[in-house]
Amino acid sequence: MDILSRGTALNGNVRVFCCCTTKLVQEAVERHNCLPTAAAALGRTLSVGCIMGTMLKDKKEKIEIQIDGNGPLGNMVVDAYYDGTVRGFVTNPKVELAKDDNPQKLDVGKAVGTNGVLRVIKDMSMKRPFISEVPLQTGEIGDDFAYYYMKSEQTPSVVSVGVLVDKDYSIKAAGALVIQMMPSATEKDVQIVEEIVAHLKPISQIIDEMKDPTEIVKAIFDDYQELATQELGFKCECNKGKFAIVLSKLPKEDLQVMIDEDHGCEVICKFCNTRYYYDEKTLQGYVKAQMACEKKQKEVAGKA
Ligand code: ZN
Repeated sequence: MDILSRGTALNGNVRVFCCCTTKLVQEAVERHNCLPTAAAALGRTLSVGCIMGTMLKDKKEKIEIQIDGNGPLGNMVVDAYYDGTVRGFVTNPKVELAKDDNPQKLDVGKAVGTNGVLRVIKDMSMKRPFISEVPLQTGEIGDDFAYYYMKSEQTPSVVSVGVLVDKDYSIKAAGALVIQMMPSATEKDVQIVEEIVAHLKPISQIIDEMKDPTEIVKAIFDDYQELATQELGFKCECNKGKFAIVLSKLPKEDLQVMIDEDHGCEVICKFCNTRYYYDEKTLQGYVKAQMACEKKQKEVAGKA
């Protein structure tokens, strides 16, 4: 089970989030048939998304992360929710790039690109959404979110995120660690955190070795005070009915083309890759409903 631990350390002067996301990243990678570099990029963003989602104050709120660095990966979108669930996709899951100086390492930065932005949209239910964006720094995701927290939320943060892809392309380990300085943090606290980070192994390696986020943070900070744990998972709330509503509102001329040429229509959810099929009869029903509606409107207009 994927899990997140959040709490405070250094006498409450830093807040810490650590999550293990191996299973949900595996699910996302399988759903989208990602090759390793795309898997790492999407997995890293999903992992930070889990942490951002659990930072939300209300269960009706939602976070949308958009990353578009104009690299070969294209656009990457991740939705994160209060309950610890996430969903996401990349435009081109077949991107595969190794670092020039180390063919063993995936070049996520080059795949994502740096000629673009990291955008975070906080959908706060009834209120106007809060949108904030920063230019991408390295495209390696961790650095980009650290920059986002600094520029957008004025919170100095360490963001360590990683995905370990096995030889058979399955996900061996994935997760993220975020350490944020509270306003009460002293110069000494900053030094301690810098010292810790300088000696920290890659987070994916730590997760592969230790698995449990609570144990990981305890090993980093002697005085870790855990406030809560949260189960995490990949979840998409799409269903056939939701897409049917969208489909039924398409111009009837377009629906007629689908009826005449394809005798039906297939809709694929870009977030979870689920396919939904609508047969000819269903589409004809939408056309008829639109025609009946137009007829009624004409009658009403005629009477007026
Ligand atoms: Zn879906």
